[in-house]
Amino acid sequence: MSKESLANLLKEERRFTPPAELAAAANVTAEAYDRAAEDRLGFWAAQARRLSWDTEPTETLDWSNPPFAKWFKDGKLNVAYNCVDRHVEAGHGDRVAIHFEGEPGDTRTLTYAELQREVAKAAHALTELGVRAGDRVAVYMPMIPETLITMLACARLGAPHSLVFGGFSADALATRIQDADARVVVTADGGYRRGKPSALKPAVDEALTKPGTENVRKVLVVRRTGQDIGWTEGRDIWWHDLVDRQPEQHDYEVFDAEHPLFILYTSGTTGKPKGILHTSGGYLTQVSYTHHAVFDLKPETDVYWCTADVGWVTGHSYIVYGPMSNGATQVLYEGTPDTPHQGRWWEIVEKYKVTLLYTAPTAIRTCMKWGDEIPARYDLSSLRLLGSVGEPINPEAWVWYREHIGGGRTPVVDTWWQTETGSIMISPLPGVTEAKPGSAQVPLPGISATVVDDEGREVPNGSGGYLVLTEPWPSMLRTVWGDDQRYKDTYWSRFEGRYFAGDGAKKDEDGDIWLLGRVDDVMLVSGHNISTTEVESALVSHPKVAEAAVVGATDPQTTQAICAFVILRGDAAEDASLADELRAHVAKTLGPIAKPKRILAVAELPKTRSGKIMRRLLRDVAENRTLGDVTTLTDSSVMDLIQQKLAAAPASSDD
Ligand code: ATP
Ligand code: MG
Repeated sequence: MSKESLANLLKEERRFTPPAELAAAANVTAEAYDRAAEDRLGFWAAQARRLSWDTEPTETLDWSNPPFAKWFKDGKLNVAYNCVDRHVEAGHGDRVAIHFEGEPGDTRTLTYAELQREVAKAAHALTELGVRAGDRVAVYMPMIPETLITMLACARLGAPHSLVFGGFSADALATRIQDADARVVVTADGGYRRGKPSALKPAVDEALTKPGTENVRKVLVVRRTGQDIGWTEGRDIWWHDLVDRQPEQHDYEVFDAEHPLFILYTSGTTGKPKGILHTSGGYLTQVSYTHHAVFDLKPETDVYWCTADVGWVTGHSYIVYGPMSNGATQVLYEGTPDTPHQGRWWEIVEKYKVTLLYTAPTAIRTCMKWGDEIPARYDLSSLRLLGSVGEPINPEAWVWYREHIGGGRTPVVDTWWQTETGSIMISPLPGVTEAKPGSAQVPLPGISATVVDDEGREVPNGSGGYLVLTEPWPSMLRTVWGDDQRYKDTYWSRFEGRYFAGDGAKKDEDGDIWLLGRVDDVMLVSGHNISTTEVESALVSHPKVAEAAVVGATDPQTTQAICAFVILRGDAAEDASLADELRAHVAKTLGPIAKPKRILAVAELPKTRSGKIMRRLLRDVAENRTLGDVTTLTDSSVMDLIQQKLAAAPASSDD
């Protein structure tokens, strides 16, 4: 079924050439692919010169002990200097770095010169708390400027930060503090979410009662909401008491390119989170280059907005390190997209004249569900490019995004990458690539990726298999924190000498790459491998469906049976014929074998804080098992509702 289904999703008319004006002035042109193909390491050495090095590297890659890479190992630099100070020195101190928009409507503007002073003060403050190069700092914060300032201050001191999503529980926070053996925690009393203050400090207090967190000496607390919080004398310090009185200048230290920059735990979509370690020079080179290439950033005129939470890798690479190393002006928004109303994001785009927008498919599908008329109320004409990350974007959502947000003009870049890869790896280039909705398409210049079969043989065009990366890349993870063996086992043992991403993918007849979801999610139905992504995309292409999650549940007749959970669009009603209608639609789009056995309309799907659907939990309910680890879930009551609904619903008749 795979070939015909792909052909169906790839309708001829849905190809989009880059706008002529953008193409003519694009930061990166087609020539970059050839240059990188001729001399991959030379290409990355040239990209490293985007940065300011205190000691220029002479060696690009040391791969003498795979899979442990050293990039630019004899180079020395300071990451924070590269993201802040050098822009001020270049005369751009008055350029806005951050337009902060709080959820209640409060705002704050920070220029690069102001940011430089804030980072300097925070670096002095952390030093006063005893933070030294190499010490880990846990950061449990809302989306406010102090979070970015803290990350940059850590980078300045060579103290790796470990961000933990503000939505995670005390337990999840404690595990991450223990695993990284953090010495200081930076937090806030709370942040604003869904129209009210949402506390953070109590979770820190609780986490620090757990064994293994004893090495945390100090807790630095930003006052954001003013809510009442517990206080431990001698351990807790207010940000405004400590940071505000520090000197506004700070002499930075210089670190090796391979000095650790941060640890970040993966989303936990598939299992126990892994502490992914990223280092300095290679990471910064690739996030800087990819941000320049994929978003075509013109720092003097663009206003960039990435809606991801800073506690997710997208926030690290495409709010902090990529855009700031490039001197971008960006929007930082604290809250949820529907507070106080469902047009909040579009109001922000209009207000700041955002030109480049980067968000996740889940947000796009949610906006589809709310209805086309909401974005239509705002002037979105400033937008010139849209990006997507986090999950495969269904062709239907891609086209909706371009049409209703991009005014039918903007390119859409579907960017594939992971916490582990650090930077975007597979994506169209907005001034070069003829875009195909639903496909991430081509590895970026300097990146080597392909699709292989079970035995590791590269598959021909038109077939599917496993996505692998065949050469090391500058922003690759260096290891799993404290567990080199897990690093080797998870990523480098499945296919000899190649990095196994854990994602299924397919090459179309042109050789373009289509991501098909996680390998663990692929379904086996009556001897056929069926991708969850394709069935979900087929469901979302039905006018009544805004969002869909599909899992394979054990079935005595067919090995697995397809079970679909759908969220309906704003105006669609759930009636008796819905399931049959959707089953018929999937059969028509993909073939009868892909027809879901059960279809259930639900109000919400279980998602991680980064907006990804947790299919393994849906598989648990579909198979009547007790739920696995739910600690990274945004809202665990979602699962109760789904369980109740599933218990009440009859299984569809089979034909
Ligand atoms: P865990 O590894 O703990 O299960 P996670 O994989 O969800 O969590 P991330 O590193 O945030 O954590 O997500 C990377 C994954 O997201 C990719 O491996 C892929 O499955 C998916 N993904 C990201 N961007 C895209 C994209 N543009 N198209 C398809 N899938 C994507
Ligand atoms: Mg992953």
